Amino acid sequence: MSKDWNELSEKMSERLAPSMAKDHPNLPVVKEEGCYYYGRDGKKYLDFTSGIAVTNVGHRHPKVVEAIKNAADELTHGPIGVIQYESILRLADELAEVMPGDIDCFFFGNSGTEAIEGALKLAKYVTRRQYMVSFTGCFHGRTMGSLGVSTSKSKYRRYLQPDSLTYQIPYYRPADFENEDGTIREEEAIRQLERDFDNLFKYHVSPDEVAGVILEPVLGEGGYVMPPASWLKKVRDICTEHGMLLIFDEVQTGFGRTGDWFAANTFGVTPDIMAVAKGIASGMPLSATAANHKLMQQWPMGSHATTFGGNPIACSAALATIDVIKEEKLLDNTVRAGEHAVHGIRKLKEKHPVISNIRHLGLMIGIEITDPETGKPDGEAVLRILDLALEEGVLFYLCGNEGEVIRMIPPLTVTTEQIDDGLKALDKALT
Ligand code: PLP
Repeated sequence: MSKDWNELSEKMSERLAPSMAKDHPNLPVVKEEGCYYYGRDGKKYLDFTSGIAVTNVGHRHPKVVEAIKNAADELTHGPIGVIQYESILRLADELAEVMPGDIDCFFFGNSGTEAIEGALKLAKYVTRRQYMVSFTGCFHGRTMGSLGVSTSKSKYRRYLQPDSLTYQIPYYRPADFENEDGTIREEEAIRQLERDFDNLFKYHVSPDEVAGVILEPVLGEGGYVMPPASWLKKVRDICTEHGMLLIFDEVQTGFGRTGDWFAANTFGVTPDIMAVAKGIASGMPLSATAANHKLMQQWPMGSHATTFGGNPIACSAALATIDVIKEEKLLDNTVRAGEHAVHGIRKLKEKHPVISNIRHLGLMIGIEITDPETGKPDGEAVLRILDLALEEGVLFYLCGNEGEVIRMIPPLTVTTEQIDDGLKALDKALT
């Protein structure tokens, strides 16, 4: 690495806020392409993070780059409503085709947290109710509203006084309902869910004061937990029964990650409102709060607005992203590659007793690390494994309340050879 770079990097630790510059592993890179980052050290790194579930079609996919360049030649800024432009209209139309159920109408923003903020406002405005119900372990973003419905392990949260009237109930807990052989006691899990809602309505809040119920259909930051479809269907039924709007946060699960366009499609459960971001535009800042036309029309002009949301370059990148997912049949590859990876990780589990659990849906893979002696989640070990895997040329990230889960989310274009390379590195790191 050059002397200039070292000086600049050193200085940036003063210029950039710690919350922006101090995450793990903080790899210095010069370029990204396909499934790889190119480090400043001249090494090539296999990326099993996809920029945290963003570059689903691979880094700098040529079609996405071309779309961005062409768009920049014509229009760099909306603002939609004041002017009209083709990319946002075409994108809304294309998205309606791939959304679950009857969801066909969109408010575009710039980030996941904005999409959630929009979803909360939409639910509260339409129902004229003030409370939300969220689930422990779910993460929805960092604005005051989205933080208000999130569980955060951060000790700083209590100084932030998040801006949301929210009751939390427990998310699906695999340890309570899964047998040794991996089978799930679904009826028991559903009965527990019913009891949690009953207690909430009996002692805390009346259902007719609850605007919406928000959750991640697969727990992301909280540790890659996949509830059974029947559990999500039950949440849907309870919402319908009480006129509460069901909000799916598909910021992390969207755009092919689960092996279908969205987790809602995978599970066969359609929410009333959906928040999508991350994978939508392959790195350009874009998000959407989505609902069906009838619901969205009750959210009038003036109740929400944006300056940058639905930026024309980002919308063009999103159109190209959707094309690539279709043309390259990435949903099929996700299922195939996910199965291949899990097969390999199961073999690693036989060899390395620190692996206590493997959870996956498509290419959302969580490898839980436990101290074999104490049986406790081992976040410290995960940090060491991440560093050692990086030395072997593979970038993983982590999740879980104690940082105890190695998160493996390669681009959906990943080949079985690249997965094998990555698992070889993981094997060495675990050894
Ligand atoms: N919701 C989920 C499930 C997320 O994983 C994230 C980001 O990690 C967000 C919301 C917030 O998205 P953003 O960081 O784009 O604001």
